[in-house]
Amino acid sequence: MSKESSQPRLELMVSEMLSCQACPLSSDRTNVVPGTGPVDAEIMFIGEAPGANEDIKGEPFVGQSGKLLDNLLSSIELDRDSVYITNTVKCRPPNNRDPLPSELDICQDHWLDAQIAIIEPKIIIPLGRHALNRILPGTTIGKSHGQTFSKLGFTIFPIYHPAAGLRQIRYKQLLVEDFKTLKTLLGNKREPTEEPKSHHITAKKNQQINLF
Ligand code: SF4
Repeated sequence: MSKESSQPRLELMVSEMLSCQACPLSSDRTNVVPGTGPVDAEIMFIGEAPGANEDIKGEPFVGQSGKLLDNLLSSIELDRDSVYITNTVKCRPPNNRDPLPSELDICQDHWLDAQIAIIEPKIIIPLGRHALNRILPGTTIGKSHGQTFSKLGFTIFPIYHPAAGLRQIRYKQLLVEDFKTLKTLLGNKREPTEEPKSHHITAKKNQQINLF
């Protein structure tokens, strides 16, 4: 599918998402946070859920975690304008609680799978354990960060959530190292090298329903 035809599909999806009331998170949000970035992004970051700043601005990763993510991108000569950033759920859970499994399922079925199918990124990067559990269940962020996996034709490259890097210097160092690996991965455009046995799946990557 050409990216010319993907742009209107993404715009239509975002416009519909802005009025979504498919799960209970719609009742407490200020703004839906669909995601930002170009439709032809090679990299798609997926965090957990919008926080207070994101809820107010309607954009993902605009607080301190976002600044660290910007710095990490800059360290490998990328910036926000060249990557797509979104979350597993698009509305802020009350008091920043974890999204419920039912909320995650509903938002993924309504929006996340479709977003991935439209953008077709070369590399999907789950940020932290919650997003990892959605995209690549059956492993842990401690074991999988900085490694490449293959699923549904996508390369998955899990890393720690930037918030972890803000809390502890050792996670920040791991993030710095993993971004260096990401740069090499992008440069080499190499094939994924590792794959959990439970995710040896052969479906087409432009499948729109239940991608993950
Ligand atoms: S979290 Fe997702 S499914 Fe729930 S209301 Fe927001 S956009 Fe809709």
